[in-house]
Amino acid sequence: MLQPNKSAVLCVREVVDFEGECMSSRTIKDVLNGQVLITATAAMSVTQVAVRMKKNGLAAILILEGKRLVGIFTERDALFRVAAAGLNPKDTEVSAVMTENPTTIAPDKSFSDALAIMHDGRFRHVPVVENLEVVGMVSSSDAMGPELEQFMYAKILEDQVTDVLA
Ligand code: AMP
Repeated sequence: MLQPNKSAVLCVREVVDFEGECMSSRTIKDVLNGQVLITATAAMSVTQVAVRMKKNGLAAILILEGKRLVGIFTERDALFRVAAAGLNPKDTEVSAVMTENPTTIAPDKSFSDALAIMHDGRFRHVPVVENLEVVGMVSSSDAMGPELEQFMYAKILEDQVTDVLA
């Protein structure tokens, strides 16, 4: 594990270039590369949406009205807002249990920016929107070792600075 207060190394070896500089993280566009966007509509039932998620191996799905992004529905919502609340998924519209107006990111941002959004918002998915149109979704599971390690290092460092200033 990286220990910032014991080491001056800012990057893990895999992401340091020949001059010893940190290489930038992948862009969101790089991460999306070839992703097929699967969505659902707000009027679908939770059961219909869950079937679509299962068929496509998705832990989260974006909810659209026409081309407009209106929400996100994840496994956690199925568990906490449907199962734990005793709702019947066949009779419940996904619009009633999704998170409305999710936080989004643009494709030209870095994947580290998406990780920061996930960390701050305590969720694991970020829809990607370009010119008001949804083009994909990134998730914490897209994080590869070096990026995650670099991100965690930066967070630990930030927390230590906050502690010192407190
Ligand atoms: P997750 O960890 O992604 O399963 O999501 C945890 C909770 O945050 C669920 O209620 C999601 O609907 C919600 N959520 C997921 N992604 C986002 C996002 N990008 N913006 C706002 N809420 C989200």
